Amino acid sequence: RGISRFTTAAVLEGPIIPPVQVTYTQNLIDGQFVDAASGKTFPTYDPRTGEVIAHIAEGDAEDINRAVAAARKAFDEGPWPKMTPYERSRILLRFADLVEKHSEELAALETWDNGKPHEQSVTAELPMLVRLFHYYAGWADKIHGLTVPADGNYHVQTLHEPIGVAGQIIPWNFPLLMFAWKVGPALACGNTIVLKTAEQTPLTALYVAKLFLEAGLPPGVLNVISGYGPTAGAALASHMDVDKWPVMSPLLLQLAFTGSTDTGMIVQELAARSNLKPVTLELGGKSPFIVFDDANIDKAVELAHFALFFNQGQCCCAGSRTYVHERVYDEFVEKAKARAVRRTVGDPFKKGTEQGPQIDSEQFQKVLRYIKSGIESNATLECGGDRIGNKGYFVQPTVFSNVQDDMLIAQDEIFGPVQSILKFKEINDVVRRANATHYGLAAGVFTGSLETANTMMRALKAGTVWINCFDVFDAAIPFGGYKMSGIGREKGIYSLNNYLQVKAVVSPLKNPAWL
Ligand code: NAD
Repeated sequence: RGISRFTTAAVLEGPIIPPVQVTYTQNLIDGQFVDAASGKTFPTYDPRTGEVIAHIAEGDAEDINRAVAAARKAFDEGPWPKMTPYERSRILLRFADLVEKHSEELAALETWDNGKPHEQSVTAELPMLVRLFHYYAGWADKIHGLTVPADGNYHVQTLHEPIGVAGQIIPWNFPLLMFAWKVGPALACGNTIVLKTAEQTPLTALYVAKLFLEAGLPPGVLNVISGYGPTAGAALASHMDVDKWPVMSPLLLQLAFTGSTDTGMIVQELAARSNLKPVTLELGGKSPFIVFDDANIDKAVELAHFALFFNQGQCCCAGSRTYVHERVYDEFVEKAKARAVRRTVGDPFKKGTEQGPQIDSEQFQKVLRYIKSGIESNATLECGGDRIGNKGYFVQPTVFSNVQDDMLIAQDEIFGPVQSILKFKEINDVVRRANATHYGLAAGVFTGSLETANTMMRALKAGTVWINCFDVFDAAIPFGGYKMSGIGREKGIYSLNNYLQVKAVVSPLKNPAWL
């Protein structure tokens, strides 16, 4: 076993009581918080202890139907699409102000439900949530079509219209940010929404949905359903309801999904087989983080550590294959191990904690199974390798060296605090190996040479390439995957396309003789 300062002793002396209470546990449909149609509830757990935080209304197909009907009514008959874009922008801005006002409760709730460090919730998630709504509020009144210079005596213009009702399914690793990435652009474009949260983290979306009502969002524009994937999620993806005769038009017209690649494939099939809804998919990754021998090694070590361990390793774009040039490999491994051993794991509410628990028992067990597989495949366990304590889902920061491309830990998305360090000799070799995956979400390159940076940024098949930095996010920067990491882009100007239809309108310049 590797050297680690972590023992199996408990990391929780007695978990800190979160400075917040759970207020909203019901589904939000048509502006009202309501119980599930079935009357059922499900527990959401504190990942620090595995104890129940609250019981949440468990939405399923019937609740999805009601929410979609409310969203369609709000789109067809409500004030939302008829408002001026400026008025819609004002509502998004008011919402952002309310998020700022309630950021203390929201940050605490996010950490309680998810386990991420409270400092991270306060300094990263909440400001990014606010920034994203400011950004899309800015877009709301700048969405417009074009005048097209066509042949002949015709005036041709395009109208950019909202699609109608958008279905959105989000994961648990960044509950508030995934909410924002989906809801911000959809509302800016004038759509209405049915959003299903992840069953592990239902709390903060319900809280911010209430803030949206307070900000003046009309009832039915945003509906939030808590519940499980195969029931509520599948019902949303495969939604078939149509208006009653004589209209007969499908109610739900677009689907945006973030989650694992396996579920993404199911969701796309459900969407296609029902009413051919267009889908956007933000899926998994196995992103390379590549360190050349001309890089500043200390900085590269720190950034590679951050790229992998941030958010307990539960990032779709985690730098989970650390490729290091052979000339600096041994030095890098020593320093990466020393950094991981220094990582502070504990109660995420405690100041200074860098790493909290994994989200739930299932993910925790999965991470431990991958660690076992790394050991069995003869990668060198440099540090970590076990759980911490006997309560909650804490995993030791784990580093493997001598990892080979064909090992499971180098191929699968582990989604935990497990760094795999691989060795490379030259640039063509590392490009080929970095691209030899069915994923293509992100990549990091660390080098002192502009030439190397420019070659790499073009050669890597990934939706984001970070050069001498990692995990730099902004509402304006598009994000999404090549290959099986997804379809479409979120954030920035690109996300607006997911929520707009383009209509070409053609009319003669002069009255035809027959008029
Ligand atoms: P998951 O696919 O299990 O769940 C994601 C969401 O899909 C949840 O809301 C879940 O309830 C729902 N779902 C599950 N089965 C469903 C079904 N049959 N039909 C419809 N919906 C269903 O993923 P997860 O474990 O919650 O999240 C982790 C995964 O998400 C990782 O693979 C990660 O890479 C990916 N992710 C990607 C991004 C990105 O932007 N690319 C961001 C965050 C997470």
